[in-house]
Amino acid sequence: MIFLSARAGEEMRVEGLLAGADDYLVKPFTASELRARVGSNVRMALARRRATEQERALRAEAEAARDQAVSVLESITDGFIALDERWRITYVNGATERLVQERRADLMGKGIWDLYPASVGTAVHREFARAAEDKVPVEFENYYAPWRRWFHIRAFPGPQGGLSIFYSDITQQKAADDALRGSEERFRAVVDTTPECVKVVAADGGVLQMNPAGFLMVEAGRADDVIGKSVFDLIAPEFRGSYRAFHEAICRGQRGSLEYEIIGLKGRRRSMETQAAPLRQPDGTVAQLAITRDVTDRKRKQEELAASEMRFRQLADSMPQIVWTAGPDGTPDYYNERCYAFTGFEPGAVDWETLLHPDDAQRTIGAWRAAVEAGQAYTTECRLWDRRESRWRWFMPRAVPARDAGGRIVKWFGTTTDIDEQKRVEEELKGANQDLEQFAYSASHDLQEPLRTINIYGELLASRYAEKLDGEALEFLGFLRAASSRMSALVSDLRTYTQLAKFDIPEELTDAQAVFDSVVSDLNGAISESGASLTSEQLPSVRVHHTHLTQLFQNLIGNAIKYRSPDRTPAIHIAWRPAGGGVVFSVADNGIGIKPEYADQIFGLFKRLHTADEYDGTGIGLAICQRIVERYQGRIWAESELGKGSTFQFQVPV
Ligand code: ADP
Repeated sequence: MIFLSARAGEEMRVEGLLAGADDYLVKPFTASELRARVGSNVRMALARRRATEQERALRAEAEAARDQAVSVLESITDGFIALDERWRITYVNGATERLVQERRADLMGKGIWDLYPASVGTAVHREFARAAEDKVPVEFENYYAPWRRWFHIRAFPGPQGGLSIFYSDITQQKAADDALRGSEERFRAVVDTTPECVKVVAADGGVLQMNPAGFLMVEAGRADDVIGKSVFDLIAPEFRGSYRAFHEAICRGQRGSLEYEIIGLKGRRRSMETQAAPLRQPDGTVAQLAITRDVTDRKRKQEELAASEMRFRQLADSMPQIVWTAGPDGTPDYYNERCYAFTGFEPGAVDWETLLHPDDAQRTIGAWRAAVEAGQAYTTECRLWDRRESRWRWFMPRAVPARDAGGRIVKWFGTTTDIDEQKRVEEELKGANQDLEQFAYSASHDLQEPLRTINIYGELLASRYAEKLDGEALEFLGFLRAASSRMSALVSDLRTYTQLAKFDIPEELTDAQAVFDSVVSDLNGAISESGASLTSEQLPSVRVHHTHLTQLFQNLIGNAIKYRSPDRTPAIHIAWRPAGGGVVFSVADNGIGIKPEYADQIFGLFKRLHTADEYDGTGIGLAICQRIVERYQGRIWAESELGKGSTFQFQVPV
């Protein structure tokens, strides 16, 4: 600076130089003026150097600060974008290049809404505008649809306008949050809908949480009735001690299960079964997490079962029979008292197979195994050793399977009945019958001879002396001859009846069709005389003796012709069908029929529904049929309607 002055006094010049002038355009100098001039120049130079240094230092400091800020911005993983007041990008950090996949040079100077037009009108647009206009920092999360990414964004207004924006990609974190929320929601849905009570009980017994099923079990109308209340109050008094000990053990870190009873808030008692595990709480204490099932019904059923088992045992023990049960595989698992008394075995050590008579053992054991295998009722007869009387006794073991709803056998119920007395009577009866039959056989045999004599001489009388006899004598002779021929028929039928036992069940099959054909030809006379029409299906072969089958067809077809209706032509049909492992034959007629109440009686010996005047006969025919069929363990029966006709059916083996 140069000081110009019109005034030229020494003081003035000194004053001017002191005031900061570089020079004074007035000469010459005085000595003091020179000193002041030099001094001033020196001070000035010093001040100038100081100022320059200070300025350099300040500049260096500012540059260092800026470098530091930039290096911070470059080192952070969050993206950073600086915008000027016209939304143009003035700076982006390295993280931004990575996050938006663009080079810095391509971004600089561009308008942000030109770069990301999809953001216009969205939350970003609104929030940035708010930050810039209201000069407030903003923070928000935003989903950028084109990239399908979530960002967490913070924007700060700059002092001269513009925004400094920090942002980070939170897509993954969002997905993890959603997954967690989803799994939490699913877990809650399970807990809320499970029929079991799920609860959390604090160490002090306070109920922290309980699901809706739990509220129902404890009869709580509202959550407040239970949550925060003591769980011990819900436990039935006699179980409270054990429950408390259990709860404490769980809260000490053990796991376990317990059965106990609760009394609901409305007083209903229930049996519960709980599984519990320790659950660490946020405050560091340990609570009990329990899943509890209402087992009231199961318990009741168990008790009912026990009671019914008890009744069964009492009943079984009071029975005179040996009562036993076996598992599905046929292994006996229960015997009543009577069994132990009879066998002398200790409970748990019954070995009935060792008690069997050697001649019965194989058959009896085989029959039992076969029944178990087939799942069919078992019944047989066998001798067991009676150790008290030291003799064999006859028994009848029987068993029936009990099945579950699915038809699977769950148990066998068996009885073994003492039939020794019955067997003895049967044997005696058999003996007596045999004697009687023997007698009837020899009587009928012996009667034949004198009967023949009566017949012959009756015939001789009628043929040779007819003219010598008066009318009455001839009539008497007629009665005599009729009676004797009836008696012959009777004796002959009786002989047939008594001889039935002669044939055993044959090994070979008999062709029923052939038998039927020969019977038809034997009955030819009666058939043509009555005008009967006889039809039949093609008949099968059966395991019945030829003679027996002939007698069956003869009697049944003979009766069908004999008991024909006077009002219509006799029509007789013979049919068959398989049944119960054998064959059922049927002989159907359109004859006079039988009153249903007599349908069973007619099979008895000498049982007739008509007099000899009405229909000829002995009343033995159907008895013979029944006896034959019974020999083959079959049966015979009649179905009939009076006046309409009858159907006789019999079953025989194949
Ligand atoms: P019988 O024919 O010798 O009298 P059965 O033992 O053959 O003896 O028959 C017994 C009775 O059954 C007969 O008397 C008859 O009353 C009745 N009966 C048998 N078969 C028939 C039939 N097909 N229709 C009506 N009644 C019958």
